[in-house]
Amino acid sequence: MKILVLAETDGGRVSEKSLPAIAFAQQKSPEAFTVLAIGDNLQCIETLTGYGAQAVLTVNHPALAKPLAERYAPVVAHYARQLGADAIVATTTTFSRDVLARVAGLLDAPMLSDIIALEQTDGKLVAKRPIYSANLIGTFEVEGSPVVMTVRGPAWGKPEPKGADSPVQTAEAPADIPTRSEWVRLQGGGGGRPDLTQARVVVSGGRPLKDPETFEKYIGGLADALGGAVGATRAAVDAGIAPNELQVGQTGKTVAPELYIAVAVSGSVQHLAGMKDSKVIVAINTDPEAPIFQVADYGLVADLYQVLPELTELLKNSKG
Ligand SMILES: Cc1cc2nc3c(=O)[nH]c(=O)nc-3n(C[C@H](O)[C@H](O)[C@H](O)COP(=O)(O)OP(=O)(O)OC[C@H]3O[C@@H](n4cnc5c(N)ncnc54)[C@H](O)[C@@H]3O)c2cc1C
Repeated sequence: MKILVLAETDGGRVSEKSLPAIAFAQQKSPEAFTVLAIGDNLQCIETLTGYGAQAVLTVNHPALAKPLAERYAPVVAHYARQLGADAIVATTTTFSRDVLARVAGLLDAPMLSDIIALEQTDGKLVAKRPIYSANLIGTFEVEGSPVVMTVRGPAWGKPEPKGADSPVQTAEAPADIPTRSEWVRLQGGGGGRPDLTQARVVVSGGRPLKDPETFEKYIGGLADALGGAVGATRAAVDAGIAPNELQVGQTGKTVAPELYIAVAVSGSVQHLAGMKDSKVIVAINTDPEAPIFQVADYGLVADLYQVLPELTELLKNSKG
């Protein structure tokens, strides 16, 4: 199977979010995968070169300086056709959902999203993916070629480093990049904190955090003491307590940090769908019956307003 991996970029830099898709390609087609990075004046290409790809293709063009799906999708489709790719793959993120759905449309190809396993059985590709808020695993048979896929990051992890670097090849942008949509701005709520989907530590807060100032003081304060990212429940987002881009869960982001601290989070199935792959889960909740305790490795039945200031202070002091 010839695989074309689409690297995630913000138009200027290659992101480490691309690595699970490379790990997937290494496992499924170690001898025949190519990585494609699109942008303008792309930096950090070395993030992609040490994993055994046949080549890392870079397409630089001023019209591709921002990651607009309308502009990137024809570039991906062009190189998928040129390479005769059997599969076009990226890690499941907002970027890939946006771009690859259009690629599937342009190639008239089937699309599989968020897959955690893929096998070839009797000449057919059979994929598994979490469904119903990750409470069930669905098995899907796909017909046709090429196949467009997003792969769930935590299921594939990081690729194995390989001895020699892959050659970096400059590739031309196709002549007819559509320019009907324009980049206006990127609105982020990270405030200099690590990216939510990449962070080693995530501290998430729920509806009882009252308002944005309280949320920032308690949840932001603990996250900063741990060098972590901030997440939120949908109830907190809907109540205007936290910005939309911090939402974790079925209709938010999927995270799998080494440590996830859920503060005043009830543990609805929709929230769990976005964080239950975390390595260690800590829950702080006044209700000992809260469902979050069923998935927590460590639980503290306590009022956040009492324990969070103490915990944050202790952590700050322990750093010396
Ligand atoms: C289609 C659909 C999609 C959804 N997608 C998502 C999603 O992506 N992400 C998501 O999070 N939700 C999602 N939801 C909403 C979800 O069902 C829950 O309503 C939501 O997760 C609850 O958020 P919460 O835990 O902040 O609030 P609550 O359910 O109100 O829970 C608050 C918790 O805080 C505890 N508490 C109260 N006061 C304190 C205190 N002082 N100290 C400590 N603990 C305290 C309470 O005991 C309670 O357990 C979705 C719902 C639907 C229908």
